[in-house]
Amino acid sequence: MIALSLNELIKALNAQLVGDDLIIESVSTDTREQMQQALFVALVGERFDAHNYAQQAIEHGAAALLVSKKLAVEVPQLVVKDTRVALGQLASYLRNKLALNCCAITGSNGKTTVKEMTTAILSQGFEVLATQGNFNNDIGVPLSLLRANEKHQLGVLELGANHIGEIAYTVSLVQPKVALINNVSAAHIEGFGSQDGVLKAKSELFTELGYQQLALCEYQSSYQDYLDNAASPAKIEHFSLDNVNADYYASNIETLGLNGSCFTLHTPKGDCAAQVNLAGEHNVKNAVAAAALALNMGASLEQVKQGLAQLDKVPGRVNLQSLNDSVSLIDDSYNANPASFNAAINILANFEGKRFLIAGAMGEMGQQTKQVHKDLVKRALDSDIGLYSYGASFDEVLAELGQSSLGFASHEALCQQLITTLEQQHEPCLVLVKGSRSTQMEQVVQQLQQYY
Ligand code: ATP
Ligand code: MG
Repeated sequence: MIALSLNELIKALNAQLVGDDLIIESVSTDTREQMQQALFVALVGERFDAHNYAQQAIEHGAAALLVSKKLAVEVPQLVVKDTRVALGQLASYLRNKLALNCCAITGSNGKTTVKEMTTAILSQGFEVLATQGNFNNDIGVPLSLLRANEKHQLGVLELGANHIGEIAYTVSLVQPKVALINNVSAAHIEGFGSQDGVLKAKSELFTELGYQQLALCEYQSSYQDYLDNAASPAKIEHFSLDNVNADYYASNIETLGLNGSCFTLHTPKGDCAAQVNLAGEHNVKNAVAAAALALNMGASLEQVKQGLAQLDKVPGRVNLQSLNDSVSLIDDSYNANPASFNAAINILANFEGKRFLIAGAMGEMGQQTKQVHKDLVKRALDSDIGLYSYGASFDEVLAELGQSSLGFASHEALCQQLITTLEQQHEPCLVLVKGSRSTQMEQVVQQLQQYY
C-alpha cells in the first residue's frame, strides 16, 4: 500500500477521527500479521468481534484503528458506522488514487487458474497486482486492492461468491476495464438456491459495466444470451475451447499427456502457437480465456505465449508430481464441485495405465447432494477408475449401490489401502486426489508424499 494520512481518510470513509493525524502504510484485519504503521480494521462477524482484539493489534504494532465504536486505547481511531463497508471504501479510495487499471475474473470453476495464467502473461510486460491465493470474497477483494502501490500498473482480481449480491459489491470496488465470467455451473448451490441463482450471481460481474468496458464470456454456452444481455451496453467478446466462430479459440490441440497441451491460439489480434503446462482440456479453455483477458489489458501475443509457457504450478490444482518411477500423483485437493470433478475424471480417463480417483465429498450441494455423488461414483466405475472416497455423502450412495468398501472412515485408512493396492500394480499408475475444502484431502497428498 502507499502511505495515507488518517486526515485524508476522514472524508473517504465518512469517519470521525479520534486522536491525532498520522500516516498509515498498510491495512490489516488479522492480529497474527505484522502491523508496523498499520491501520487495524476491527471487523464484526456473526461469531466474532475484532474490537475485542484491538489491544492485541496495538501490541503487534498497529498505529491506528478503524472501529465502529470508540475504544479506550492510546492510538488514533477512525470511527465509522460499519467497518466492513469502510474497508471497501478504503480499497476504492486507494484504487482511485492510484488510478489502477483492473480486470476481474469470476466463474464457477477455474477462477484462480485463469487469474494465475492472466497474471503470468501480464507480468511479462507490467507490474501486476494480483489476488493472492483465494482472497476473492467481500473481505478478500478489498484486502487484495489494499496491497496496491505506485509500482503496480495493472490489477488482476479474482471475485468469488457464495451469496447473491457479493459480486455486485466486489466488482463495484474493482471497477474493471475488462470483466470475465469463465463459466457457470453447479457450485455453492446452497447459497444460491439453484443453477439460475448461480447464473444471476455471476452475471452481477457484468450488470454495471458501461460502454467503455469489455465483458468476456463463453461462446455458445447455455447462458451466453443471458450474460450478453447483462453486459449491455458494454462491448462483449466470446471465447471458446475450439469453436472457430468465437473471437478467441484454440485449434490443433495436442495433449502432452499429464504435462499439459499445445495448441494454436486464435484471437482478433492474430494467431500464435502456445503451450500450457497444466493437464486437461479445460486448462486449454482457461488459457484461451486468460489470453483474451490479457490481450485486452495490453499484452502482446508474444507475451501470451511466454506467460503461458512460464506459468508456475498452482498448489492443490492439477499439480502433477512423481511419487516414484511408476506412480504419478495429481494434487487437485484444493476444492471440488461436479464440473471440476468431471474435468478431473477426463484427465484420468485419458491416462494409459491404472487410474485411481481419491475423492473427498462435495460440500454446499444442497438438495442435489445425493445425486451429484451418485453420478460421480457411477462415472468412475464406468470409466474403470479405482475409487477411494471419503465423506458421508459418498458413504450413503455407496451403501445403496452395494459398494461400501469404496468408502473410508479416515484419511489414514484410505491411504493404507491405497498404498497396498498401488504396490501390487505392474503398470504405470496415476492417482488423482480431489475434494471440497472441508474434506481436507491435502492430508492424503501429504501422507502419500511421506510414504514415498
Ligand atoms: P474457488 O471457488 O475455490 O476459488 P476457482 O474457481 O478459483 O475455485 P480453481 O482453483 O482454479 O477454481 O480450480 C478449482 C478446480 O476446478 C480445480 O480442481 C480445477 O481442476 C477445476 N477447473 C479449473 N478450470 C476448470 C474449468 N474451466 N472447467 C471445469 N473445471 C475446472
Ligand atoms: Mg479460487
